[in-house]
Amino acid sequence: MRVHTIAAMPGDGIGTEVIAAGLQVLEALAARDGGFRLEVEHFPWGSDYYQKHGHYIPEGGLERLKAFDAIFFGAVGSQQVPDHVSLWGLRLPIAQGFDQYANVRPARVLPGVSSPLKNGQDIDWVIIRENSEGEYAGNGGRVHRGLPIEAATETAVFTRTGVERIHRFAFELARKRTARHLTLVTKSNAQRFGMVMWDEIFYEVAKDYPDVKTDRELVDAVTTRMVLKPKTLDVLVATNLHADILSDLAAALSGSLGIAPTANLNPERQFPSMFEPIHGSAFDITGKGIANPIGTFWTASMMLEHLGEFDAARRLMSAIEAATASGVHTPDLGGRATTADVTNAVCDHIGSAALAAT
Ligand code: NAD
Ligand code: MN
Repeated sequence: MRVHTIAAMPGDGIGTEVIAAGLQVLEALAARDGGFRLEVEHFPWGSDYYQKHGHYIPEGGLERLKAFDAIFFGAVGSQQVPDHVSLWGLRLPIAQGFDQYANVRPARVLPGVSSPLKNGQDIDWVIIRENSEGEYAGNGGRVHRGLPIEAATETAVFTRTGVERIHRFAFELARKRTARHLTLVTKSNAQRFGMVMWDEIFYEVAKDYPDVKTDRELVDAVTTRMVLKPKTLDVLVATNLHADILSDLAAALSGSLGIAPTANLNPERQFPSMFEPIHGSAFDITGKGIANPIGTFWTASMMLEHLGEFDAARRLMSAIEAATASGVHTPDLGGRATTADVTNAVCDHIGSAALAAT
């Protein structure tokens, strides 16, 4: 029996609701598969924990996480704690501490889901977000607080190593897809240092991938192309901040922020990778039992793939698609189903569906 150890970290708000649903689905998959077992340990490091203890991650916490095969993360953010404190207190120390530099964000319109675009069926993208540096390097300062001469800086930091490895990762991923097309997204007209270096390194790396078609867009222009000509895009690579924004747009164009998954990968596997839905803790619907768990299920499928459980990963994707196709939709997708209804529908399909041959 293959055993995978999972650190479950629900965090705040609907994070706790969707991770509970995700674990239920993973249990159903392990039972159906019979070949593997998940050993799950729960980590309560959310904003309540922070308010009680003064920190999100206790002394030695990252060291403890290191032993796990994967981290299954919900969301962090609370109305009682400033957002920059929660983000820098939990999610970024894990993503940066474990050098999860490749953030993979697929987007497509699932069966039965309607896109706000009339040609939404053309969406089949993977956005690759640089996840270790850039605008999230934490490099800046603030002086003379509250005085008229107050000043603040927020300097993006790009390193040759960091840029080259994300481009290489993006080319490798693009190479495995049917369209084999990679779009470089920067803002090198206005940002003439870091972004120009991004462009230069991209074309250096491109020489090693003659089989991958490339083009480039400025980040503002690419938003219009996403909306007007979705079919012309396949894989996109962009900085930490730019890709964060583009992937929320991609999620909305695919029907809802609630369905979008993400994998924070340490491709060299020196450290555990982290899997999470892209949405946040959603104060407006917390506790109502209507959070869409599909983004979490999809990310669970990415986690299974990362763990080498390819059959279970495919079975989960088929069950998700069968459930969305049958019209069991939470309110964000225009339906009236609850988180539990969607979870039960997916579990039913896991139990009954034969694994499609590939
Ligand atoms: P959000 O993603 O929490 O919510 C934006 C909107 O989308 C809300 O209307 C919400 O109800 C809806 N939504 C999100 N997920 C949904 C789901 N699964 N099902 C149905 N509807 C869903 O973003 P926000 O409002 O900007 O942020 C709220 C808090 O979450 C903040 O504290 C923010 O810092 C935090 N946040 C955390 C992460 C993370 O942990 N990775 C990501 C984004 C935001
Ligand atoms: Mn985001």
